[in-house]
Amino acid sequence: MNYDEYIKDLKDGAFIFKENIFGGYYLFYGVMEDYIQYITKEDLRKRIYGEDFSNDAYIWVNEILDYNGGDNYAIRLIHPNLEDTEGIYLSTKMQDIKGNYPYLAELNGINENGEIYFNYFFKKKSSEEISEKLTYAKLYEKYNWVIAMGIYFDDIEPYIDELSKDGDKAISRMILLVSMVSFTLIVVGVLIILFLEHWYYSSSNRELKEELNIDVLTKAFNRRAAIKKLEEIFNSFKKHNKSYAIIMFDIDDFKKVNDDYGHDVGDLVLKNMVEMINKCIRNTDFTYRWGGEEFLLICEGLKAENMHSFVNKILKNVEKFEHEVQGDKYHITISIGASCFNKEDKNFEAAIKRADMALYESKKKGKNRATLNL
Ligand code: GH3
Ligand code: MG
Ligand code: MG
Repeated sequence: MNYDEYIKDLKDGAFIFKENIFGGYYLFYGVMEDYIQYITKEDLRKRIYGEDFSNDAYIWVNEILDYNGGDNYAIRLIHPNLEDTEGIYLSTKMQDIKGNYPYLAELNGINENGEIYFNYFFKKKSSEEISEKLTYAKLYEKYNWVIAMGIYFDDIEPYIDELSKDGDKAISRMILLVSMVSFTLIVVGVLIILFLEHWYYSSSNRELKEELNIDVLTKAFNRRAAIKKLEEIFNSFKKHNKSYAIIMFDIDDFKKVNDDYGHDVGDLVLKNMVEMINKCIRNTDFTYRWGGEEFLLICEGLKAENMHSFVNKILKNVEKFEHEVQGDKYHITISIGASCFNKEDKNFEAAIKRADMALYESKKKGKNRATLNL
């Protein structure tokens, strides 16, 4: 794996990250997606162990590895009744003492409706006794978790018998129903905790993520955002044949601005130029700082035949714009290289390369001009 691939790998695996370049050093720091999932799951595990329900009820969690079932179709993740079996693989072929296939029944229900009520025989929590159990299981798709909770019939039978003695069958059915509804609520409660946790991590990092996509000086989107956008629109071009203009531009003789007026003025010129360009493009067009004083404009729906007049309009606007520099009026110009995706392109880099070559051509021919390389 080369250096670029290594960095890409790190970024792909990161939930959030930040990168800085100090001279010749590249500093990357971030939080891996796996780690966020790990702490969320560990926290949830503690909560499930900490829950105390009546009648020895408890919540357990299995993770589905293969929705088709079979041996090793799932792994037992959390099981307060059989802690030392956590981590074992489960099979839909497993039968209880009465010949039921509880894992198969559960998987079928989950595949069909995402949830299921079903009965089977299982060891009780506080003893070795095997008893019939009524269970509710629900799928939490994001983690492929099945979260379940059950109640043993013989634990609720005394209540039912007592009430049945009075001949009130309707009430006994009600009790069963209320028990099941309360189990459902508990399981739904656990799911809500999961959602909230996920939401918390996402929202607390949203701002940071936005900040990571914006160039601090010019407030244009940065190169990282550009690459994301290019990948996205290249897919959209391949699938829906949508047209996009890929326009690169670089300020002409920008070194001279820095040399004549200083770096701070150079910074201000960059900032004002981006602000001006953003005012004269549509809200479906976006400006990205590709590097230094080189920028990328991506225009959705701009057809090849309209590109010429569009880039000329940009050239004119930039040239016309007056920068106030230490009391003087100062004008800058840019050189443009424009391209678009072609059917033969294997990736977005092909169009970037064409735009880059066109930009080089514009510089060579005397600057303050645009070259199309479609
Ligand atoms: P050319 O017409 O060939 O593009 O000439 P140029 O002078 O613009 O040359 P070049 O593109 O090679 O140099 C760009 C200069 O832009 C060099 C660098 O110091 C300056 N620059 C890059 N980023 C910044 C920035 O953020 N602020 C300031 N003030 N200057 C920058
Ligand atoms: Mg330049
Ligand atoms: Mg340059």
